[in-house]
Amino acid sequence: MSIFTPELLDRCISCGFCLPACPTYGLTGVETSSPRGRINLMRALETGVLEDDDATVLEESSFCLGCRACEPVCPAGVQYGALLEEWRDHAWKGRRRPWRVRPLLWAVNRPWRVRLLGRFRRHARAKPEAGTATLMLGCFERVLYPKVSRSARAVDEGLCAPAGQGCCGALHAHNGELERGQELARELGDALPGTIVTTSGGCAAHLAGVLGRERVKELSEWLHGTYAPPSRSALRIGLQDSCHLRNGLGVWREPRELIARFGEYVELPSAAACCGAAGTYAIVRPDDSARVLDRHLDEIAEADLDVLVVVNPGCYRQLEQGIKRRGLRTRVLHLAELLAGE
Ligand code: SF4
Ligand code: SF4
Repeated sequence: MSIFTPELLDRCISCGFCLPACPTYGLTGVETSSPRGRINLMRALETGVLEDDDATVLEESSFCLGCRACEPVCPAGVQYGALLEEWRDHAWKGRRRPWRVRPLLWAVNRPWRVRLLGRFRRHARAKPEAGTATLMLGCFERVLYPKVSRSARAVDEGLCAPAGQGCCGALHAHNGELERGQELARELGDALPGTIVTTSGGCAAHLAGVLGRERVKELSEWLHGTYAPPSRSALRIGLQDSCHLRNGLGVWREPRELIARFGEYVELPSAAACCGAAGTYAIVRPDDSARVLDRHLDEIAEADLDVLVVVNPGCYRQLEQGIKRRGLRTRVLHLAELLAGE
């Protein structure tokens, strides 16, 4: 039985254009830690040249950030993100799944557990209404950053935020439970009819992949045509892209243009590169995650930003903690919070 979809695995022509875009190759300079090297490992796994428990195969399946920076630069159209999901679905079965990921998957596996996470959110009571766009309430965002969806509703009062929402399944799909991840996305799509607006780039890309691009709008896309700030501030504001939003859905202009309407937009050299949060990566591989984050912190310090904007809860936590550790003055805000004047 195939581990990988053959058309996905066959597409790579080994040109190496992806190597300079890959953060883990940038850290190590080692071919097996590059997209091309990992695709060769997948091929060796598929043909039985390497065993499932081969140490390099297991190490590389986890060292990869899953940032998909290798996709937009690939002339052959390799869908690396889809390959990685299939790889982990095979490689991270049972005891081989990183133990730090297991409680997180358990917590968001049932809609009632996810609802419990958000039980104190007074603004999330509405039922879905026909013809109204619904705001998706991310699982961890509702615990760590409940102000984000409150701010999104303050910016667009027409958004309805039903409380009875489950998880979108991105966490499962990226951590070795691909089928469950797709099932959760379909359940959420049934629970939230019409357009789903999300404040998380990672959730947006996963949901769009399962439900279809036309069903899903990330907040910056949603507000782009309508938002006008009440006044312009003098703040110097940078942005950290969400990898899956940029590399998976091609959304990167919209948040920049919204920020530029609000204040002085400062493009950081590494704004488009992964910050090391990468879903569960910061939990599973904290040391590598910190190494990936370092150059971002150097650039934020150098630019002396007032605000750094994020469009994904994982990046929010990663940058907030890193900035605090370095003692920088820059404040981290989600785009929704910035536009709501927080
Ligand atoms: S750029 Fe694409 S085709 Fe070329 S080596 Fe990388 S994944 Fe393969
Ligand atoms: S997903 Fe990111 S870390 Fe993984 S191979 Fe592609 S560019 Fe490198």
